[in-house]
Amino acid sequence: MTKRAYNFNAGPAALPLEVLRQAQEEFVDFQGIGMSIMEISHRSKQYEQVNDEAQALIKELLGIKSGYEVLFLQGGASTQFAMIPMNFQKPGQAAGYVLTGSWADKAIKEAQGIGETYVAASGQASGFRRIPDLGEIEVRPDAAYVHITSNETIAGSQYAAYPDTGSVPLIGDLSSDILCRPVDVSKFALIYAGAQKNLGPSGVTVSIIRDDLLQNEAKHLPTMLRYGTHSKSKSLYNTPPVYSVYIMNLVLKWIKGNGGLEAMERINRDKTKLIYDAIDGSGGFYQGLVEADSRSLMNITFAIGSEELEKKFIQESEQQGFVGLKGHRDVGHMRASTYNAVPYESCKALAEFMNDFRQRNG
Ligand SMILES: *Cc1c(COP(=O)(O)O)cnc(C)c1O
Repeated sequence: MTKRAYNFNAGPAALPLEVLRQAQEEFVDFQGIGMSIMEISHRSKQYEQVNDEAQALIKELLGIKSGYEVLFLQGGASTQFAMIPMNFQKPGQAAGYVLTGSWADKAIKEAQGIGETYVAASGQASGFRRIPDLGEIEVRPDAAYVHITSNETIAGSQYAAYPDTGSVPLIGDLSSDILCRPVDVSKFALIYAGAQKNLGPSGVTVSIIRDDLLQNEAKHLPTMLRYGTHSKSKSLYNTPPVYSVYIMNLVLKWIKGNGGLEAMERINRDKTKLIYDAIDGSGGFYQGLVEADSRSLMNITFAIGSEELEKKFIQESEQQGFVGLKGHRDVGHMRASTYNAVPYESCKALAEFMNDFRQRNG
């Protein structure tokens, strides 16, 4: 038996062991064709099946019956930051951005170089300790769209519910929390997510786009940067990242086989409760960096009173097989990323380690 680490990496992140095992089994001979999936045409019937099935599974898991297309793109979520204003903003039209932390900030900065933007709400004054109340979000009736970051991977905050933007398209960056819980997709005109947190390996970015947005997108853009190009070709306009899509397909089947998004949410709540309880029950030894109603199911951020103890915590955790607990360099402190593929047992072990560390150092 291989010994697996307690992997709390923020991204790329843990993948389900069952998925890795199946990929290993099929690595040199995919479905008896005598070649790996990486060595055949992306227009072969074997690959087309992998591609189509992954798109269908995303729709099925999210309960999408019609009206949306699932696209597999490249360039990461960071390229979506640019493609969105390029495709959907008309001259003179402003786009609203809700500022919740580093990733929202990156999205708005990219958009500022392309068109007019406004800050629809901001958590900056609270040091990004909370997601703004939905009522605080300014939806200008003539806005091109309103953009939100569903889960701030670095700050450790997450929307508990999504705003209602009426006829103004709502666009969501769900890179770090897609498929962690059921989502009412009908609230959104576009959802996008880089795969490497909750969907699979890096290299593929999922975009779920409402049909009407495809109708009125801007012309005069490079072919690869038009959503229409990819929707017309079922995401096979050019060579896709075949191995990333293949692994994502297996991850999607794993989610389905484990009960779908309701089950994912239940398990994620159980997992994170173990760790949030260790913080809340520590008598102030551990301090959560986000207010309770904005806490994330995917990235748990916390501090310890002194820098010295934090260093010791990281060191000892590494000795005991925990990986990835050091906070992002922008925020510091600690972060435990508890994506779908992180087992309950890893979270239980972390909570136990935290309690033990507190008893020895508190
Ligand atoms: C990781 C992340 C991104 C950036 O994704 P890339 O695929 O590396 O470009 C964007 N938004 C959020 C919320 C993320 O967590």
